[in-house]
Amino acid sequence: MTTLRIENALLLASAGVEPVPDAVLQAEEGVITYAGPAAGAPPCPLGAEVLDAGGKLLLPGLVNAHTHVAMTLFRGVADDMPLKPWLEEKIWPMEGRLTSEDVYWGALLGCAEMLRAGVTCFNDMYHHFPEGTRAAVDSGIRALPSGVLLGFLRRGDAVVDEAVEFCLGVREAHPRRVHPMLGPHAPYTCPDDLLRKVIAAAHEHDLGIHIHLAETAHEVEESLQTHGTTPLRHMADLGMFACRVTAAHCVWLGDDDIALAAETGVGCVHCPSSNMKLASGFARLPEMLAAGVTVGLGTDGAASNNRLDLLEEARLAALIHKGHSGDPTVVNAHQALHLATLGGARALGLGDLIGSLEAGKRADCILVDLSRAHNQPLFDVVSQMIYAARSSDVDTVIVEGAVLVQGGQFTKLDEAGIVAETTTRARRLARG
Ligand SMILES: [Zn+2]
Repeated sequence: MTTLRIENALLLASAGVEPVPDAVLQAEEGVITYAGPAAGAPPCPLGAEVLDAGGKLLLPGLVNAHTHVAMTLFRGVADDMPLKPWLEEKIWPMEGRLTSEDVYWGALLGCAEMLRAGVTCFNDMYHHFPEGTRAAVDSGIRALPSGVLLGFLRRGDAVVDEAVEFCLGVREAHPRRVHPMLGPHAPYTCPDDLLRKVIAAAHEHDLGIHIHLAETAHEVEESLQTHGTTPLRHMADLGMFACRVTAAHCVWLGDDDIALAAETGVGCVHCPSSNMKLASGFARLPEMLAAGVTVGLGTDGAASNNRLDLLEEARLAALIHKGHSGDPTVVNAHQALHLATLGGARALGLGDLIGSLEAGKRADCILVDLSRAHNQPLFDVVSQMIYAARSSDVDTVIVEGAVLVQGGQFTKLDEAGIVAETTTRARRLARG
């Protein structure tokens, strides 16, 4: 039996509880068997891998609930542009040149970036999804891959059947760390007949659905004209919310949409950097939280962020809604850390598996060094994590009981090799 034991940690089991000094976390075969004070810890079994946390903060790994990971290849290639020409003149032509191997390396670069920043789980939607998934598996991170389904690329049963086949295969091959979903891109790119097929397949095979919803005001206007109702209500009318759904962005929600999201339990993913960079607008996060909507945080792709830094998204979520609402009490530090951990886990349907450190859950956790000048003095670890700490303070990253980053260094990934390979590939894609 593989045992991991972390000793001498300052344990923050979840955003809502008191930190425990001199704590121990023990995991057997990747599952937490104990997380609490050293005084009550079980004996350390012979042969256990023991980490001395040296008083560092031990908390759940961060959950990036929406991204397009291989878009790291397009980081910085085109910025400060309106959405339409950005997509039509820059991104889509480059995506047309992508090979499966490009996606593998771009995804590996993104996984490395996320792991180094304390992200232990990410929810992805992209082309060439088997290769993106292979990169996630190779990196050791937890992943929810979905192949993007676009009505204008290919239609009919075949595209959904292919996605289902991929999901079932990868779920069987990697049952512990890979949780595939079906990924219809958005209501405005997927006709209703395609969405109905996706919903039927999700029911039949118990698969989640990952979709973009209500990202822009234009999308809502178009939905009102075409379907006579909002994107959220339209999806509800198609029966989608009887499935497990993760909806990215949800910027333009009316009061009825917020009530609908709360009632149906659809997981909404707030992406503050992307929404600011693409000028999509301000999501109604304070109202969503007050209504009891399940919300997580996402970075979106690196082409529209340009970082895959979930801790920064949490800080931004806490800050921009104060500025936008004129109320400094909204989205407090505890709420922001919850969004980045258990909130994200629940928005992905993994709330029973990850998002907090307690016996029975998977050992996805990070150690953060709060000893440096910018983190001192230390009064409240949650406040420090959200407002003062930087993702570069993440010292150790563990997924499913496996130590992937230690002392700020990768234990298995070759960062320099990944950077060299992706640099060559990204230059070729940008050249055309
Ligand atoms: Zn997106």
